[in-house]
Amino acid sequence: MHIITKLLDYIFPRQCIFCGTPVYSGLPYCEDCIDLIPFTEDVCPVCGKESCICNKQQFYFQKAVSVFNYDLGAEHAIRQLKFNEKISYAKPLAGYMYQKMLQSDFINKIQLILPAPMTKKDTIARGYNQSVLLAKELSRLSHIPMSDRILLKVKQTRKQHDLNSEERKINLSGAFRVTDSVLVSGKTILLCDDVYTTGSTFNECSRILMENGAKEVYCIAAASTQLKQLKQK
Ligand SMILES: [Zn+2]
Ligand SMILES: [Zn+2]
Repeated sequence: MHIITKLLDYIFPRQCIFCGTPVYSGLPYCEDCIDLIPFTEDVCPVCGKESCICNKQQFYFQKAVSVFNYDLGAEHAIRQLKFNEKISYAKPLAGYMYQKMLQSDFINKIQLILPAPMTKKDTIARGYNQSVLLAKELSRLSHIPMSDRILLKVKQTRKQHDLNSEERKINLSGAFRVTDSVLVSGKTILLCDDVYTTGSTFNECSRILMENGAKEVYCIAAASTQLKQLKQK
């Protein structure tokens, strides 16, 4: 069995998701990256940021958490998943997100997982929505149902990264829609996204879900940008 597993690993060499180096250990990372993985630490228990942004806006979600700082290898992994068709990276990344869920105080409340939606046009252009891939894997691991047909993005918006927090809010206004409020009514929902920046996407999605009768919304992202990174951009 041991030999077969090893052989299979050689036949199907995997890559370190953080740097792209082939790895044969069965782990999603290479030895060089273990110490460099930029896990989030010392963050605000509500907004999940190193430099709290809670006083900057009214949140419609209860809490947002993320696994990595969007930096170094973690940024590499997510960019590969998003822009380079490395859809196999969703599995290990969601594995980390599931660990984060297990450590949270909300995992037992979650009744439904919803991925941050992309417009139909953007999804067709990319061929997939990376948040859907992450949510599917989270659902498989946690046995909590997910759906990518409840929360939709119905308006094409400008790329968010050039906009400040106020402009992002305006940009996202009217962008999301719930197909049937019965499906979210009274439910505690986990929103799932790849990157959490200013929180405007999480917040606007949460607002729409709450407006449609959701009980509570929690948010999880694979990675979160930190304030110092935002200032550089
Ligand atoms: Zn590596
Ligand atoms: Zn905060």
